[in-house]
Amino acid sequence: MSVLVVAEHVQGRVRDVTYELISAARSLGGPVTVAVIAADPSGLDVAREGVDEVVHVRTAGAEFENDVYQAALEALLEERRPDAVLLGFTVNGMGYGPAVAAKLGLGFASDVFSVARDGDAIVATRAFYGQKAHGEVEFPAGRPVLLLLRPTVWPAAGPGGPPAVTELELAPTVSRARHLEFREAAKGDVDITTADFLLSIGRGIGEKENIPMFEELAGKLGATLAVSRPIVDAGWMPSARQVGQSGKTVKPKVYLAFGISGAVQHLAGMKTSETIIAVNTDPEAAIFDVAHYGAVADLFDVAEELAKLV
Ligand SMILES: Cc1cc2nc3c(=O)[nH]c(=O)nc-3n(C[C@H](O)[C@H](O)[C@H](O)COP(=O)(O)OP(=O)(O)OC[C@H]3O[C@@H](n4cnc5c(N)ncnc54)[C@H](O)[C@@H]3O)c2cc1C
Repeated sequence: MSVLVVAEHVQGRVRDVTYELISAARSLGGPVTVAVIAADPSGLDVAREGVDEVVHVRTAGAEFENDVYQAALEALLEERRPDAVLLGFTVNGMGYGPAVAAKLGLGFASDVFSVARDGDAIVATRAFYGQKAHGEVEFPAGRPVLLLLRPTVWPAAGPGGPPAVTELELAPTVSRARHLEFREAAKGDVDITTADFLLSIGRGIGEKENIPMFEELAGKLGATLAVSRPIVDAGWMPSARQVGQSGKTVKPKVYLAFGISGAVQHLAGMKTSETIIAVNTDPEAAIFDVAHYGAVADLFDVAEELAKLV
């Protein structure tokens, strides 16, 4: 089963989701081809374990543009005719993947968090109804399938290679949109998606006046402060700190949750964290279903004891 992965990159750096897509592609049996669509494709390293071929598609602009990627992927599909195409379920992937699938009549599913083969068919598992239900979508063999895979679910493929590299010449695309510039996030915002240790607080902290205490504790522990949605909805912290379905997806080494019940929308953003520690007074709280370690305790008592240790 031939699989085509489209690499994602930004400002000259390959995004981790690319390596995760390669792992997912390998699990389908291969051969695996990775397309690098960029102004300088050779500057982007996608030589990972299990990659058989890399196709360089040279573009005029350095950064991502929907219609350039759409035209490139359509040409790649025409030329390579893979059985499956894997893109990230990311802003970029969502920008052109569905359009290609609709135009070419491909099988399609988004927010996929598991893929498997059943003979020559592909079975994708995805979430429905705001993560409340999971469903399997089976694609019989015969027409190509385009899947948008959820980031952080698959492990990143390790270094490998070197794979065969080929160049694909494309007629220039006249883009209807133009990338103008990157803007840094507003000062004071942090990127919770790259932190190794998140101290995450939820409605259980009670009131806004308690937030400085947890900011201080996070600082002492060397953690980054994250929050559940009610804290953002109340205007107590910026949305850049929110974990979950309508917030950020995170996968830190340690996720320490204080006073978070574990609603499906919250779990969607953190349940693949390496180690989850939950503190909650309610022994039935759903967060304990995903936690590796848990304390049925008052979070203020635990915070006080932790502060004494550091
Ligand atoms: C479309 C949609 C998208 C959403 N997206 C997100 C999202 O991205 N992120 C998100 O977080 N939510 C999201 N939500 C909201 C989600 O459904 C929950 O309402 C939310 O996650 C609950 O946040 P919480 O766990 O902080 O609060 P609660 O559910 O109110 O839980 C508070 C917990 O604190 C515990 N507690 C109280 N006091 C203490 C104490 N002193 N010590 C210890 N424990 C204590 C309680 O037992 C309780 O379990 C979304 C909802 C919808 C419909």
